[in-house]
Amino acid sequence: MVRHDYGLSDELKMLQSTVRKFIKNEIIPEEQKEDPDAIELPEEVVSRLQEKTRSMGMYQPSAPEEYGGAGLDFFSNTIFMEEVSKHRQGLYNAGCGAFGHPINPILYAGTEAQKEKYLKPCVQAAMRGCFAITEPSGGSDPARAIRTRAKKTDKGWLINGNKIWISHAKVADFVTVFVRTDDGPIGIRGEITCFIVETGTPGYSISNPIPVIRPEAPYELIFEDCLVSEEQMLGKRGGGFDLLKSLLTQNRIPYAGQCVGVAQESLEMAIEYSKIRETFGKPLAQRQAVQWMLADSAVELHAARLVVYNAARVRAENKPFDIESSMAKLMASEVAMNVVDRAIQIHGGMGLAKELPLERWYRELRTRRIGEGPSEVHRMVISRELLS
Ligand SMILES: Cc1cc2nc3c(=O)[nH]c(=O)nc-3n(C[C@H](O)[C@H](O)[C@H](O)COP(=O)(O)OP(=O)(O)OC[C@H]3O[C@@H](n4cnc5c(N)ncnc54)[C@H](O)[C@@H]3O)c2cc1C
Repeated sequence: MVRHDYGLSDELKMLQSTVRKFIKNEIIPEEQKEDPDAIELPEEVVSRLQEKTRSMGMYQPSAPEEYGGAGLDFFSNTIFMEEVSKHRQGLYNAGCGAFGHPINPILYAGTEAQKEKYLKPCVQAAMRGCFAITEPSGGSDPARAIRTRAKKTDKGWLINGNKIWISHAKVADFVTVFVRTDDGPIGIRGEITCFIVETGTPGYSISNPIPVIRPEAPYELIFEDCLVSEEQMLGKRGGGFDLLKSLLTQNRIPYAGQCVGVAQESLEMAIEYSKIRETFGKPLAQRQAVQWMLADSAVELHAARLVVYNAARVRAENKPFDIESSMAKLMASEVAMNVVDRAIQIHGGMGLAKELPLERWYRELRTRRIGEGPSEVHRMVISRELLS
């Protein structure tokens, strides 16, 4: 469609085409057997698919080879995430777990013992984690909003407080949770520290699911005198804010890549449908109103992809990339929403039907303008840099 190969090497084009075939031949047929709002495939199907990705050398693509992954570099992983998200569950559960589940925080900040205990089992699909920052007092500004506290005692760290909107909490074996470790007043920036809390630890519990716009309901986490040892600290005391900032800044780039992937798929669906659907004696594709929707989507999507790839390249070159990351997340999440919205419009009633993935992508994408930092916060970060 766009005559531009984005400077991708032959190797990366091969990766794209391998993942594309896998999604089309292995994931989509399995998804079609499930409810349109399903959030996972049956366990035995996931295990079988994982065997396949292992034999292709594609299992846990972004994990280092020493931990059993495929060792993809950052840019290649962004391309991978774009491609692997092109299916119904793709924005919530990219690849349906066939390529493994996310492993990030412990990989970047864990001690060797923590990597042995948590990272390796995660890579091997024997454990899963979840990531808890947001509290009822707010998520956009965690340095001030975090009120959950860990107090040092003779026996270890005693955690008290609540987290909210936490995805994957039901299936997690452990939580990486960000808490205050100072005694200062609430509402001002405090000392933030991260702990790994196993979900069987006394004093830890989760609420009933909290139904939201997308099928997967997040949970509230409750910590009541939950005691963890010093060995469960991830990174150093007071290093939690820098850790969450660096993790989120880099996660947002492949996250933006996922939005680009789904938008691409929606645009292609809209193009195909506009050629076959006739109204008033002509295919939709011959109506200027429809042609302009397609053109606007193609232009916005091309621009968003360039911004995402640029951010991934800057990160891969180890240059400062925080502004690039904010631009990528902001632009890709908003553009994808527009592109999917136009694709729904062109499909008419069919665009809203659960038979197609468009309505689900629309709902999933709506959460993406709030999750991983609301659009307004990214605009604030970008304008702060412009005005500094
Ligand atoms: C489905 C779902 C899954 C989630 N999963 C997780 C998870 O796994 N782990 C986790 O820790 N959190 C998770 N979250 C929480 C999410 O990260 C937060 O909702 C998000 O960070 C925003 O925080 P908030 O909801 O408290 O909004 P607030 O911080 O209260 O902000 C409300 C609104 O105010 C506006 N705003 C905020 N700051 C500014 C500003 N400076 N300038 C202008 N406008 C501003 C924005 O429009 C924002 O949407 C999830 C949320 C949802 C809905």
